Amino acid sequence: MSVQVVSAAAAAKVPEVELKDLSPSEAEPQLGLSTAALGAMAPPAGGGDPEAPAPAAERPPAPGPGSGPTAALSPAAGKVPQASAMKRSDPHHQHQRHRDGGEALVSPDGTVTEAPRTVKKQIQFADQKQEFNKRPTKIGRRSLSRSISQSSTDSYSSAASYTDSSDDETSPRDKQQKNSKGSSDFCVKNIKQAEFGRREIEIAEQEMPALMALRKRAQGEKPLAGAKIVGCTHITAQTAVLMETLGALGAQCRWAACNIYSTLNEVAAALAESGFPVFAWKGESEDDFWWCIDRCVNVEGWQPNMILDDGGDLTHWIYKKYPNMFKKIKGIVEESVTGVHRLYQLSKAGKLCVPAMNVNDSVTKQKFDNLYCCRESILDGLKRTTDMMFGGKQVVVCGYGEVGKGCCAALKAMGSIVYVTEIDPICALQACMDGFRLVKLNEVIRQVDIVITCTGNKNVVTREHLDRMKNSCIVCNMGHSNTEIDVASLRTPELTWERVRSQVDHVIWPDGKRIVLLAEGRLLNLSCSTVPTFVLSITATTQALALIELYNAPEGRYKQDVYLLPKKMDEYVASLHLPTFDAHLTELTDEQAKYLGLNKNGPFKPNYYRY
Ligand code: NAD
Repeated sequence: MSVQVVSAAAAAKVPEVELKDLSPSEAEPQLGLSTAALGAMAPPAGGGDPEAPAPAAERPPAPGPGSGPTAALSPAAGKVPQASAMKRSDPHHQHQRHRDGGEALVSPDGTVTEAPRTVKKQIQFADQKQEFNKRPTKIGRRSLSRSISQSSTDSYSSAASYTDSSDDETSPRDKQQKNSKGSSDFCVKNIKQAEFGRREIEIAEQEMPALMALRKRAQGEKPLAGAKIVGCTHITAQTAVLMETLGALGAQCRWAACNIYSTLNEVAAALAESGFPVFAWKGESEDDFWWCIDRCVNVEGWQPNMILDDGGDLTHWIYKKYPNMFKKIKGIVEESVTGVHRLYQLSKAGKLCVPAMNVNDSVTKQKFDNLYCCRESILDGLKRTTDMMFGGKQVVVCGYGEVGKGCCAALKAMGSIVYVTEIDPICALQACMDGFRLVKLNEVIRQVDIVITCTGNKNVVTREHLDRMKNSCIVCNMGHSNTEIDVASLRTPELTWERVRSQVDHVIWPDGKRIVLLAEGRLLNLSCSTVPTFVLSITATTQALALIELYNAPEGRYKQDVYLLPKKMDEYVASLHLPTFDAHLTELTDEQAKYLGLNKNGPFKPNYYRY
């Protein structure tokens, strides 16, 4: 039985819908995945009873030692592979990108050799990246009868396309292509780019240790044997690592892109070359987008039994065109805020016909996306756009939630003088305790060099604030949408806009004062920097485990409802990433476990715990 969630944060996001969760005791058997799944990857579970999920309110107190869970997947059990084992076995060469867009191969001894000329010539950077980050416009995807999900355009991907295919205007739909094994069950820009894409995938593998560990653990046993997964996500090197992991775990996959700009053509080619039916290329039209999705599901002799979606478009398509497919589909795994929201709406309306897993609200994903990712990418985004020096600069960060905390920590570490604005006394007090001056924006707006919004709110920086900023003040947004800064108010006749670089505008006042507006007020890091692969690794691992769990769950464990990943699986995702750091986790003694009322192997925190 599913239950109302205890997570206030998650509930706040989708207030009108119930979030579902599992009690810790239910998590065990699933986690054992012993049922058929992860059992192969870990020793058998110590206990735990695969009962149907119980309401949180009815949950028993945390089990004492020996009363429940499996030691199977606990890092404390020492079963997590060492980082070294997860690395590529023979990474003779690392790839480095030159500022001019060329590429070099760097040997372990530091010797640098140029990549072949043909490859070098193909590389492009700034413009392609800019295009990737474009939001669909009214004349673009949103002109469709059903608009494209905002979340899918907001979710993360860490790379632009590196090879130039602009000289080839032929639509991939009009090309006859075959991979080296003679298969033509794919549609990508250019299959000949496969080798280059393979190198990108290999680089990503090095920062995705958990997926590589899952592959290793799955040797022999195939927890996804028989799974036919249809996926719709960004098609990047990181996704490729996920897909190839799912393949290694026994699944058959067919894949389309969830975003018309984000596909890395060479990665799509590499996947097609290695036998994955991929239907995606960078710069798809609206029609192409749905055609690609359709080619994934509407295929003779193959019917999906699992869905992995990012934005809900694939799920929507199947609902609309092939509702009968849901008879065979065992579950949906959804990553994006918007897609998850739609699933809750379907659930509320009684129209959700299979169980769905909300991976967006997993603790690990949230923490990594919001806090740690922003802590790194705020500097990256500012640096790439402005080449600025951070030391001694005065910065005001609006909002001291997860994103704000990440931004403040990074800038403080670089020697900036950081002010914070907040509306919530708790976050405000945290800012004070962390050593930041809490101010109202008006108090510092004349003196600061940089203004960063991280609130998820609207009109946090108004035209009045913009009028009062000093010359050359940099203004940017790390929050939800481009409404945090009132950019629309800057589009008036007396102000002149000057595009000085990709994603950088100078807005000039009649007296000559100018402010530097980044990414037109859209999310700075998504528009102007990359997202660390390690962050994407967390999400991809969560997706893989959610698929394994839903696919292997016995009949009745999950109803036609939306569930959060069991806490213990979240812990497992984290544990799989620890060996990268040669981290040594302390194991509870029996006595300590009893004292705390915990099982030695987790879960270690109640669902309401705020990390
Ligand atoms: P959060 O709720 O933890 O933090 C937002 C904070 O802003 C809260 O503490 C809130 O009290 C404060 N706030 C609201 N209105 C304010 C105002 N007018 N002035 C000052 N403070 C105000 O949320 P979060 O996890 O930090 O995310 C913030 C935003 O960033 C969200 O919109 C989220 O979708 C987005 N986000 C961005 C990225 C990224 O990569 N850029 C990643 C994750 C989330």
